[in-house]
Amino acid sequence: MSNRIFSGIAPSGVLHIGNYLGAVKNWVHLQNKYESIFCVVDLHAITAPQNPEELHKKTLEVAKIYLAMGVDPEKSTIFIQSHVPEHTELAWILNTITKIPELERMTQFKDKSSENKQNINAGLFNYPVLMAADILLYDTNLVPVGEDQLQHVEIARTLARRFNSTFGETFVIPEPYVIKEGMRIMGLDDPTKKMSKSASSEYNYIALTDPPEKIREKVKRAVTDSGKEIKYLDSKPAIRNLINIYALLDNATPKDIEDAYRKKGYAEFKKDLAEVVVGFLEPFQEKYNEIDDREVLRILEEGATKASKLAKEKMEEVKEKIGLT
Ligand code: ATP
Ligand code: MG
Repeated sequence: MSNRIFSGIAPSGVLHIGNYLGAVKNWVHLQNKYESIFCVVDLHAITAPQNPEELHKKTLEVAKIYLAMGVDPEKSTIFIQSHVPEHTELAWILNTITKIPELERMTQFKDKSSENKQNINAGLFNYPVLMAADILLYDTNLVPVGEDQLQHVEIARTLARRFNSTFGETFVIPEPYVIKEGMRIMGLDDPTKKMSKSASSEYNYIALTDPPEKIREKVKRAVTDSGKEIKYLDSKPAIRNLINIYALLDNATPKDIEDAYRKKGYAEFKKDLAEVVVGFLEPFQEKYNEIDDREVLRILEEGATKASKLAKEKMEEVKEKIGLT
């Protein structure tokens, strides 16, 4: 039994603190215990319109962010999804055992298609099938993701079981890995929706690469709830989210933050929060700016070679099982 984790992020925009707290932060410590594979899922990004030059740039940026955040290429395989064509090959096969109502139920599909009614493409609909292929291709045991992706990991589990029961044991049934804190960071401009890199307004998120002035401006503009108190309550979703971000980046508990701001107002809290975010991102941004682009390309090439080897072996097995010769 292997001991493997797989996860990925789409280069559909700039990575934000939600992506870090919900996903990458966990990758960084899990890579010490598991054989780890981290992918930049560019084929997922194109389910929304992307400018080709920008997509290319953002794909490399995401890989650089993995590295600057502490994903270690000595321990983990890092590669670009489209460099390993077996992902799409397996996705096609899994499509044939996926039921349309299973995909129609997906929250992400419903959300993204209602946000962009002009472009409800089949790729967006089949997104979870490609994600299942990403995961199943590598006999993944554990998938560290944010809460919003749990439904997609569940589909991957369903498809693995269905394939195995029809064609014989082939796929490992993957387990999701989420930690409660950080699994769902909400948008700064709308605390009822998760922070998202393809949000229409940049005031929705704090990008990991935002300069200090921008961070201060975004935190200042973040919506707050009515009232004046810094309270960690479900009835105060905006402040609750800001307290969460503060606590997670400052290694404190929400209770610590509540106590520290008992007699203080929103303005002071926000001012301090901005400095906590700026202080947290500073060393990361320094590392990010030092990384040599050629080195990133070398790491990605090496990663694709390693991933390809595993992917090819798995596809051989899959094809044999279903009678493709
Ligand atoms: P997009 O808007 O293009 O879907 P995204 O911000 O949702 O972008 P993804 O690439 O879809 O980012 O997801 C990458 C990882 O980050 C996934 O594991 C996802 O669960 C996690 N994640 C995304 N948004 C958040 C969030 N707001 N809080 C915690 N985790 C998140
Ligand atoms: Mg997403």
